[in-house]
Amino acid sequence: MSDFWQRALVYPIVVLVLSLLLWAIAGDLPAALFFGVLMLWRLFFHLRNLADLQRWLASPDTRDVPDGSGLWEDAFSKLNKMMRNLRKEREKHAAALLQMEQATSALPDGVVILDASDRIEWCNLLAVQHFGLDATRDIGQQITYLARQPEFVQYLATRNFSEPLILRTTRQDGIVLSIKLISYGKDKRLLISSDITQLERIETMRRDFVANVSHELRTPLTVVNGFVETMHDMPHLENDMARRALNLMGDQTIRMESLVDDLLTLSRLENDQNPVREEAVDVSALLKEIFKEGQVLSNSKHQLHLEIESDAKLSGSREELRSAFTNLLTNAIRYTPEAGEITLRWAEKEGCPTYCVRDSGIGIAPQHIPRLTERFYRVDRSRSRETGGTGLGLAIVKHIAMRHQAKLDVVSEEGKGSTFTLVFPARRRQ
Ligand code: ADP
Repeated sequence: MSDFWQRALVYPIVVLVLSLLLWAIAGDLPAALFFGVLMLWRLFFHLRNLADLQRWLASPDTRDVPDGSGLWEDAFSKLNKMMRNLRKEREKHAAALLQMEQATSALPDGVVILDASDRIEWCNLLAVQHFGLDATRDIGQQITYLARQPEFVQYLATRNFSEPLILRTTRQDGIVLSIKLISYGKDKRLLISSDITQLERIETMRRDFVANVSHELRTPLTVVNGFVETMHDMPHLENDMARRALNLMGDQTIRMESLVDDLLTLSRLENDQNPVREEAVDVSALLKEIFKEGQVLSNSKHQLHLEIESDAKLSGSREELRSAFTNLLTNAIRYTPEAGEITLRWAEKEGCPTYCVRDSGIGIAPQHIPRLTERFYRVDRSRSRETGGTGLGLAIVKHIAMRHQAKLDVVSEEGKGSTFTLVFPARRRQ
């Protein structure tokens, strides 16, 4: 007989034996009364413990299992142990879940778990942002009710997920998403969304850049080719005409050369493996050289001034600084009509070394200013070409500025002139 039954039967047997003894001594009525009262008291004891259990079951709190007594004490103590283990398990699961949630929110991608009918079972924070979801309200909702863009709905419907879907969202921020679906488990799917806006932008820039370079090279090449063919077809061309043709070919070749030079400069500046050479550059001496070159380029057509108000040396690459300073000065000369005034200035502003070129030239309308440093962006294409521009000068200046942690400020008014300022950080002052 099991321990339980042994303990359970002790009480009724003892009461029964005592009642039989009482029957022999005092007769049947006292014995029956004795037996009835003790058994009722036992019944009441069990009912009381059962009530405690009922009460606890109505709102089971792992910490508040009743104590009980006798056989019930055993049962309650086992229940208590079970609840303690359960609590520990639950805490372990909660910690694992929290870790999972933290890991998925650290993921650079949006993640949504979908069931067989494309209903959302779970999603991370980035998915909330990518699809404009609500992480609590939208659980159980069909994802296509919430992200309704036709391409997306169609992608889910076709069930062919071998290629990711590139989705240009129609939302205000207009982000571009790459969406992948991975099947797992039984009819479950993992939707992964990556923000590729920046990559797309770079890809578009790359395509535009190749198109621009080809376009820039095509014109001079067509001209040179035309002359070569003419000279080929007419070997006895008059000397005068031949010289004119050669001159024009020479101009186009120079144009291609400066374009290639600027492209190579840009690619050198963009190369991460090519760090800035840190030299102590004597800017006032450098500006004096540049100023002289400017005078030659202007051919006395402009009034050039040089104002050196600081003797600060600059820590940076002499060659790059020369290129940036010269670019700004040659632009001022090229975009300032004859007799205009151009001032080169080296000074300090609140401890920051500044190089500034001010001209009284044609100026720039405000809508163009933010785009001036884009490659091949020109306000007036023909004027830029006529003066030998490649459309890359300010892109080069911007890169050099970035490499020296400097800021390029442009203030300009159409018809009145422009001021281009390079502001270097104070720590570059030597
Ligand atoms: P570009 O070779 O065409 O001069 P840049 O990158 O140097 O190319 O300059 C971009 C455009 O910015 C120019 O085409 C011109 O329209 C404008 N720009 C630059 N500097 C000046 C200036 N000092 N005055 C007026 N416009 C300027």
